[in-house]
Amino acid sequence: MPIGSMLSWQGGDLALLEALGLPLWIFDIDHKRVFWANQAALRVWGARSLAELQQRDMSLDMSVSVAQRLGQYQQDFERENASFVESWTLYPNGRPCVLKVAFRGIRADGRVMMFCEAQNPLSADPASLRSAEALMHTSVPITLYDSAGMALYRNPSARAQVADAGERWRQHFLHDGDWQALQQGVAAVGEARQLARVHTRRGERWHEIAVRACRDAVSGQDALLVSEVDITDLKHAEARASFLANHDVLTGLPNRNGIRSDFLPYLQQALRNGRQAALMFIDLDRFKNVNDSLGHARGDELLVGMTARLSRLLRHDEKAARLGGDEFLVMLAAPDAAGRAEALGRDILQALGMPIRLGGMDISVSASIGISVCRDGTLDLEQMMRHADLAMYAAKDAGRNNLMFFTPALEARTQAQLALESDIRRGLEQGEFVAGFQPRVDVASGKVVGAEALARWNHPQRGLLKPDSFIQVCEDSGLILQLGRQILAQATRQQRLWREMGLDLMVSVNLSPCQFVDPALPAMVAAVLADSGCQADRLELEITESVLLGHDDQTMRTLQALRAQGVSIAVDDFGTGYSNLAYLQRYPLSSLKIDRSFIADLDSTPAIAELIITMCRMLGLKVVAEGVETPKQLAWLRQRGCQEYQGYLCSPALAAGEFHKLLL
Ligand code: C2E
Ligand code: CA
Ligand code: CA
Repeated sequence: MPIGSMLSWQGGDLALLEALGLPLWIFDIDHKRVFWANQAALRVWGARSLAELQQRDMSLDMSVSVAQRLGQYQQDFERENASFVESWTLYPNGRPCVLKVAFRGIRADGRVMMFCEAQNPLSADPASLRSAEALMHTSVPITLYDSAGMALYRNPSARAQVADAGERWRQHFLHDGDWQALQQGVAAVGEARQLARVHTRRGERWHEIAVRACRDAVSGQDALLVSEVDITDLKHAEARASFLANHDVLTGLPNRNGIRSDFLPYLQQALRNGRQAALMFIDLDRFKNVNDSLGHARGDELLVGMTARLSRLLRHDEKAARLGGDEFLVMLAAPDAAGRAEALGRDILQALGMPIRLGGMDISVSASIGISVCRDGTLDLEQMMRHADLAMYAAKDAGRNNLMFFTPALEARTQAQLALESDIRRGLEQGEFVAGFQPRVDVASGKVVGAEALARWNHPQRGLLKPDSFIQVCEDSGLILQLGRQILAQATRQQRLWREMGLDLMVSVNLSPCQFVDPALPAMVAAVLADSGCQADRLELEITESVLLGHDDQTMRTLQALRAQGVSIAVDDFGTGYSNLAYLQRYPLSSLKIDRSFIADLDSTPAIAELIITMCRMLGLKVVAEGVETPKQLAWLRQRGCQEYQGYLCSPALAAGEFHKLLL
């Protein structure tokens, strides 16, 4: 029936309709009341008169799904002048009465109502009545299509969701491939299931679709029974979960997991297209300082700011990821990947180095970048990441704010370092590390007043080794804690032995920054002192300027705890670091050691050594000059009032047995 030819109600039709023996009535959907009914219908409804039937408020015992369906019918009537035949269970005066009802829209009283015509009462068995009811009430859209894909029947839920009543089976899908997959499944085994994006009245949705081949009960022709479940919300939740699993929440960049799915296919594609690929490892320098001194919220802010700067420099097909902490990874492909990586790396260093405003302060951070390039067709993402990481560490070693390419020599060096590390571990267990003692001499009297313990390694194959061949690896591996403790124990024991020989000497022992930040340090020192029988006021610990720069409460607490035991603190290699004079006053220090480079330069530039000596006098700190090799240097120091010196002029570090010969 063409659209627009909906029935319209004129009272004049009455006589004719009354005359028809079939129950007929008009239901007013808006008011949930019967608007008009013929005599046969009054009997069906168990009403004495039309007026009485019109009084009944049908909404009172109407289920939600029925109310929804009625609204749906109203729309269907209006949109496409639909007509339906369904089996209904009415409850006139509470008693169920099953009828087959044909109904369609009718205009009455200016609104769209429902014109219902009861056909022969159904005499079907209860099971099929119930299944028909279930089909009507279920929220699952169910559609029966003929073999040409035209809808033969839609249950109310299917009618509610279909975008267009004339839509064919194939047109339901956004992607034809989904329809094809279902068709093939049905052709092969009679049924199929598929997640697919489909058109609906609510827009594009994800449905899980189940199809089964069947026959149309009316025509006996082949048909398809289709049921659908809307899983769009599930899909969204799933997409969100997978986003979270693959991305860093703070910056929105892919994380370590995301790299696999994002980077690998991209790199493989680039290599197939004859381009080269490069990975860059970017690590902010001293980011920990920002976190420690300004707090994590500011640290996060910095990372977000840095991510924005980084992202702006990337070309559309270059990708960045955050590996965690202050480590970023950039991937690129280019005909000359090394050239592009170098240029990009320089831009990144420059951009990241620009001051950023954090909590009212302008902060500058630099970065170190390691690059690995894949030129041939074999791609190993793990290996490239490892190589870029190694190169990044080499860039840090070379003084930070730097970029470095991976070379095989770097890897060889790392392997050599690993071998050295396990050799050191073994050496520490075997007691191969011994303290050498370099005299500390009173400048005025020329008397030996103390000794600095310097670590030596009696290596079974390589002979006596100096710290420059093992200290760095000890610091990198954490073995320095063990080494430091061994040297401290030897030095304090030696101090007690000297005292027993009647020699009152100070010993000084070097502390590496990682020892200093170890919260167990004061307790460790106390235990070693107690064990050795050395008096605390005969021990001086040498720290470097860098450990004072953290200038946090922890630094102060550690220094105070050591001072409280009676241990002295010296600042070693003074003048080579930041030489921030303010902290000298703030912290409880006892001496300052002028770095030997300033003593070596006394002839050309005496001003720095002079300044340090003057400053120490003002602050009440003892000055110790290191690396004194000539009588001329000593004379200069004596003139300036420097209290102590160390250096080859007196003696290099000696084994304990040699040392006290010097005192005789
Ligand atoms: P440092 O603490 O500055 O030690 C002084 C270094 O200068 C020693 O080198 C010493 O042999 C050398 N030296 C002394 N007098 C002269 C001189 O007149 N001229 C010249 N050119 N050099 C002189 P060494 O023993 O090789 O130690 C190097 C560094 O290793 C030390 O520098 C110290 O920072 C570190 N170190 C040594 N032992 C330990 C230790 O037990 N623990 C820690 N954490 N570091 C240590
Ligand atoms: Ca020292
Ligand atoms: Ca020194």
